[in-house]
Amino acid sequence: MNFNDITGQQTIVNRLKTQIKSYKIGHAYIFSGSKGIGKRTIAKIFASIAICKERGEDGSCGKCQPCRLFRGGTNPDFYCIKTEKNSIGVEDIRKMQKDVSIRPLYSPKKVYLIQEAEKMTVQAQNCLLKTLEEPPLYTLIIMTTSNYEGLLETIRSRSVNYSFKKNTFEEVKKYLIDNEKIDLGEVDFIASYADGVIGKAKELSESDEFKLCREKTIEILLKLNESNAKDIFSVYDFFEENKENIEEILDIMLVFYRDILVTGKFGNEKMLINSDKKDIILRNVNNFSTERIYKNIKVVDDLRNNIKRNVNYQLAVEVMLMKLQEEEL
Ligand SMILES: [Zn+2]
Repeated sequence: MNFNDITGQQTIVNRLKTQIKSYKIGHAYIFSGSKGIGKRTIAKIFASIAICKERGEDGSCGKCQPCRLFRGGTNPDFYCIKTEKNSIGVEDIRKMQKDVSIRPLYSPKKVYLIQEAEKMTVQAQNCLLKTLEEPPLYTLIIMTTSNYEGLLETIRSRSVNYSFKKNTFEEVKKYLIDNEKIDLGEVDFIASYADGVIGKAKELSESDEFKLCREKTIEILLKLNESNAKDIFSVYDFFEENKENIEEILDIMLVFYRDILVTGKFGNEKMLINSDKKDIILRNVNNFSTERIYKNIKVVDDLRNNIKRNVNYQLAVEVMLMKLQEEEL
């Protein structure tokens, strides 16, 4: 993979290319932006170029020894910090710093990639600061983060900051058509749903689970709108089984209500996100008053906030379901 394979993010890619071409690579970078937006992909291409002996501005040569080692995941001049845990501690940074003091073995640069850099504790960040203040010439540190504010000002001010922008609908659509095996009837829906994030589009297009979850969620919303209270408890089972995906389900709910609103209030079918569900939406538009939609959107948002505050899950979901079902006064 090289820079020519990247969809969008052209400003950032062009700046990096210029720096590579003119041998003016900085010593520390922060790539920030939504999860799935391409920070890590671009960081890895940038790293592969910095490590290559015959580098071009678009990509590494792929043939030299550092390139071969990098591809095999065994180039000692590339060091990656990533963790499944909640934090990156000061010990992790100290270990990395010991490595920083060793000159590169095969490559012109030594590259350190810190993924989810916001996970660094304050102590870890302060420790890293020492390296950022006096980095050996051969070091290149790339931090990726979806929470820029989670990094100390002192870290930010000593790094080159690139904020990744969301892709346009057309860019996401093109990416899906060019790279994913996708049913053309679903492209528009997934491209809108991904909200400008290619990683999300990719994930959604590959997930049968997501498709099923969406079908079921929409079915439930329609059922809640017309049935009586005794059904709530059977509906709850779905939320219990999909507890892990609750954020996704709440997104599906909000998008569905939004679509009903857009079609009903503004009569604009072209703005539908669930474009493949146009028939269902048109059929149901008159069953939801505008007031009811606004109320439901608020009820769904309330649940999201309650979950963040760790309230009792079952109780909170059942309250939401009851409210969604309430007759209007
Ligand atoms: Zn190479």
